[in-house]
Amino acid sequence: MLRKAKRIVVKVGSQLLAGREGLNREFIESLCSQIAEVREKGIEVVLVSSGAVLAGIKALKLKRKPFSLAEKQALSAVGQPYLMAEYRKAFQKFGVETGQVLLTAEDLRSKERFHNAKNTFGALFKLGVIPIVNENDTLSTEEIRIGDNDNLSAHVSVLVDADLLIILTTSPGVFDKNPERYPDARLIPVIEDIKEALEKCDFSTQSTYGTGGMATKIEAAAKAAKKGIPVIIAGGREERVIERILKGERLGTLVMPSKKLKAKGYRILYLMKPVGKLFIDEGAEEALVKNGKSLLSKGVKRTEGEFKKGDAVEVYGLNGELIGKGIVRCSKEELERSKLCIHRDDFVLLKEMEQK
Ligand code: GLU
Repeated sequence: MLRKAKRIVVKVGSQLLAGREGLNREFIESLCSQIAEVREKGIEVVLVSSGAVLAGIKALKLKRKPFSLAEKQALSAVGQPYLMAEYRKAFQKFGVETGQVLLTAEDLRSKERFHNAKNTFGALFKLGVIPIVNENDTLSTEEIRIGDNDNLSAHVSVLVDADLLIILTTSPGVFDKNPERYPDARLIPVIEDIKEALEKCDFSTQSTYGTGGMATKIEAAAKAAKKGIPVIIAGGREERVIERILKGERLGTLVMPSKKLKAKGYRILYLMKPVGKLFIDEGAEEALVKNGKSLLSKGVKRTEGEFKKGDAVEVYGLNGELIGKGIVRCSKEELERSKLCIHRDDFVLLKEMEQK
């Protein structure tokens, strides 16, 4: 599976990139040489890199912390060019050009912009350029923020149809509990079922000092895995880690791909923000859950929030249980007059399939 990868996404976090006096040049050089090497073998690579805010703090020699959101946005504006300059310098040693792609959640939510971004990546690959992606922190207001680059890297993997996502971090992989606190913590080599792993293990306290710690890495891995993309969470400081993973060496934690969501399902589930809630009766629930049918308006008993045609909503049973998420074919006002509320093609079932 891993040895056959033709297109991969590599994500590196701020902690790996932090040096004593700014960005860690040695790490960046090693990372770029590995990526250049991998590329020589005909594998296309996208690099998702954090470190803009960090580079901004270092460039301005700021000590004070924490920073407000507006300050962080300003700091990323200062730091992003520093970050790119470092990558450019390091990649140029191998004759590789880089391209900067800054994304917001908005770019991924809308179908048109998603395709537009996809085309841009396609063109960058054709030109032999390594795309270096970060969230457009400077312009991302709370509303349109993805918030962490782990989740961003999952979305980018889906966007470019990657065969593998490698999330590099300061920890050698995912442990069943916090290894700093518990000496008997074990590294989990393979996660087959994220849901089960989440029940058995405690990821929340496994900090990697980055924005989201281990929790957002698991969250991101779960998303990519649902789209059929395997994910490896591994130690970024391990010698030639990327090449070794691609050679099939067991490093870090492999999160196995699970169900294969279609691109539309992924967008509905993970990219579109639900703006309303629909509460449906038993008949409608049965049609959705057991019979794989669409949701008709007459089955909707109550709504919350304002929605218009094309918006994403959450669908609940009358007992308040979340059934799924979908895109409505009519606005709240039109609901009574229109027959179809959510077409099956625009619906993702979240409730476990019940036994018939
Ligand atoms: N986009 C942020 C930065 O470049 C990092 C977000 C994260 O660490 O996940 O500083």
